[in-house]
Amino acid sequence: MTKSSFKRIDGRKSNELRPITAKVGIIPNADGSALFAFGNTIAIAAVYGPRQLHPQHKQNPTKAFLRCNYDLMSFSVSERKKPGPNRRAQEISKVTEWALAPVLDLDSFPGTVIDVQIYILQADAGTRTAGINAASMALAHAGIPMKDLVCSVAAGKQDKELIVDLTKEEEDFKEGEGATDFAIAKVANSDEYTLLQLDGKIQPNIVSDVLELVNGACKEIYEAQKKALKEVVKK
Ligand code: UDP
Repeated sequence: MTKSSFKRIDGRKSNELRPITAKVGIIPNADGSALFAFGNTIAIAAVYGPRQLHPQHKQNPTKAFLRCNYDLMSFSVSERKKPGPNRRAQEISKVTEWALAPVLDLDSFPGTVIDVQIYILQADAGTRTAGINAASMALAHAGIPMKDLVCSVAAGKQDKELIVDLTKEEEDFKEGEGATDFAIAKVANSDEYTLLQLDGKIQPNIVSDVLELVNGACKEIYEAQKKALKEVVKK
């Protein structure tokens, strides 16, 4: 398929994100909370802590324990999904911790836990990336010292074309070379990547093009996150 004839299934340009919704302070009882949506993919995050970790033997005397819990709600997808945690959710919780920890000053809160609960209310691919964006905003809202926000989006290849923020339909694309889904997170104002999770195949020589596409998208995500956080500060 030549570049000029390429059309995404939903009519977006290859570098175009779905409409972003970003809100902060959606759960009053949490220390910090946020909602982040890419089109039909909706994630909410709530942060509790830092607070003393129990049982005591799990405490780290040198730093806080960042504990993320990702959950795809059973009503978030059209095909039946058994409620509760599974291996996929465990893996996403872990990579979310790794994606967020580098911007947090965990050393300032020894012996404590920072709980980050991420719930996916509606899923149309990109849920781990939407969850990371929501969690990053919720951590900032909770007032946890952070060196920067984390921005996340999936890029990929549909046949031979590089695209950003894939829908489920795009992830499932089977024609030509099929689809590749590459979930990426980065520290907003740096070239530090905190998540690179590839599902499918990508030629090494185009990885830099993928990162360039993602960097552009992350600038838009960062602006949306900042705008939402500033709205709360104004109140
Ligand atoms: N999905 C689903 N049921 C599941 C898990 C995933 O229908 O139990 C759908 C959902 O739309 C999700 C998409 O498959 O967003 C892609 O899932 P993946 O594991 O690739 O993670 P994501 O792209 O959401 O980070």
